[in-house]
Amino acid sequence: MSMEKTTMTKIQATLIPGDGIGPEITEAVTAILDKMGSPFEWDVQQAGMSAFDAEGTPLPEATLDSIRRTKLALKGPLTTPVGGGFKSINLQLRQAFNLYANVRPTKTIKLDGRYDNVDMVIFRENLEGYYISDEGYIEHNGDPEGKVFSTGYNTKEGAQRITRAAFEYAVANGRKKVSIVHKANILKLLSGMFLEEARKVAQEYEGRVEFDERIVDACAMQMVMYPDAFDVIVTTNLFGDILSDLAAGLIGGLGLAPGANIGENAAIFEAVHGSAPDIAGQQKANPCAFLMAAGLMLEHVGKSDDAQRLKKAVVETVQAKDRVTPDLGGTGNTMSIAEAIMDRL
Ligand code: NAD
Repeated sequence: MSMEKTTMTKIQATLIPGDGIGPEITEAVTAILDKMGSPFEWDVQQAGMSAFDAEGTPLPEATLDSIRRTKLALKGPLTTPVGGGFKSINLQLRQAFNLYANVRPTKTIKLDGRYDNVDMVIFRENLEGYYISDEGYIEHNGDPEGKVFSTGYNTKEGAQRITRAAFEYAVANGRKKVSIVHKANILKLLSGMFLEEARKVAQEYEGRVEFDERIVDACAMQMVMYPDAFDVIVTTNLFGDILSDLAAGLIGGLGLAPGANIGENAAIFEAVHGSAPDIAGQQKANPCAFLMAAGLMLEHVGKSDDAQRLKKAVVETVQAKDRVTPDLGGTGNTMSIAEAIMDRL
């Protein structure tokens, strides 16, 4: 009877272990969550190369159905099969669930990282811009493929939606400033419209959250020179893609960086890194980024205390270099760092 009670109070969530190091880091992360009394009941599904090998498709209908039902997923890294015209599965998931916001928090954890006081959150528009490129060839100098083009689009709705998400986050999390990042001086329509719409939304928050505007190239330099001057950043798809990796570099790489893909009907949480085929199956993978992604998922479902507890245990373990993986300068492995984290919960 008590079993039934526990099950009933759990939050249904889809778990996709993924490819390469995915299953190893998933095992570590689920063990840690179980130790702290995970609120999630997992529906384990496949996607990526593992799904392709098992079922002949990298994104099975059962996986999509599961996310449709749970509206919540923790997703390991996926390898997109090369060739055969496969579209990125991550892109397909974003489009299938209208996940318009890619949210990437970047906070200093490693004391020997490049900077000690980085604490920024990037909101990247996830469905528009140059990522939705319509590409093609144009004849040039007699060569039918001598010229190529790529187009992108932004919509007023999309620009407002991502900007509002950034400002709402700032309000909810006591953040002081949102920086709107653009290239409106050159891409007068594509980026210009984004800036205009973002400004309109920013004005709704006047007196509550400050905002400033930065041109993306200058912003990249400033992020490297004065990273502590940034708080929340909102930008378009391609710029967000680049700047969020730059931000990860500021704190010592992708090994600790989580990301959330949020939409109106679903949210998918993941580590920023890929499936790391070079170290797959060797227990060398650092599970912390995936664990921090689970932390974002806890926050998303309102379990902020659990999220803080988890984050604190990760930070302390990494800073103490206790049983950490080789990428963090240790001689430990995926399970030993997981145990070190569990000891601190
Ligand atoms: P990658 O992030 O998988 O690996 C880059 C380097 O970082 C490798 O040397 C790897 O060993 C190391 N690394 C990555 N994660 C690590 C971890 N947790 N612990 C320790 N070291 C780690 O990037 P890649 O090699 O460019 O891509 C490999 C595959 O992953 C490709 O198929 C790519 O499409 C896919 N990918 C998927 C996602 C995703 O699903 N979100 C993101 C990026 C790349």
